[in-house]
Amino acid sequence: MAGNRTFTMIKPDAFEAGNTGAIFKMIEAAGFNIVAMKATRLTPELAGKFYAVHSERPFYKDLCAYMSSGPIVAAILEKANAVEDFRTLIGATNPAQAAEGTIRKIFAKSIEANAVHGSDSDENAAIEGNFFFNQAERVR
Ligand code: ATP
Ligand code: MG
Repeated sequence: MAGNRTFTMIKPDAFEAGNTGAIFKMIEAAGFNIVAMKATRLTPELAGKFYAVHSERPFYKDLCAYMSSGPIVAAILEKANAVEDFRTLIGATNPAQAAEGTIRKIFAKSIEANAVHGSDSDENAAIEGNFFFNQAERVR
């Protein structure tokens, strides 16, 4: 059975552009409840740990620099079928290929500065949520 939690970040491009509120408005309108949320900032080291699965990819170094270039908002979200439904809501990695009406289609600037992160599996949703939040920081 699919899990009911996913993890997201408002990435530095969207935070800097002042789109955090508009993006969370879309997230809540799509039926997701907020379990935990905070504005924070990744160091290059923390960004490297978070995206360690991509350490062999050619874009890894740039990705770590970009993700630590400014504040982000991290959040745990709850909804039935959360991981899959959230990835549908955000759209394809490359905004040029993202479906109309998706968060990345509306707010992303490029394939790298693509406005939001969404976990790709229940297992990674739990790992990523635990990366940013302890139990006391969760309201559900
Ligand atoms: P995310 O994990 O952030 O939700 P995703 O699952 O859609 O995004 P991944 O393949 O996991 O995509 O890539 C992680 C992130 O690395 C992307 O969101 C993007 O910021 C960056 N990225 C991916 N592919 C490229 C690329 N070809 N060039 C530059 N940056 C890229
Ligand atoms: Mg991913």
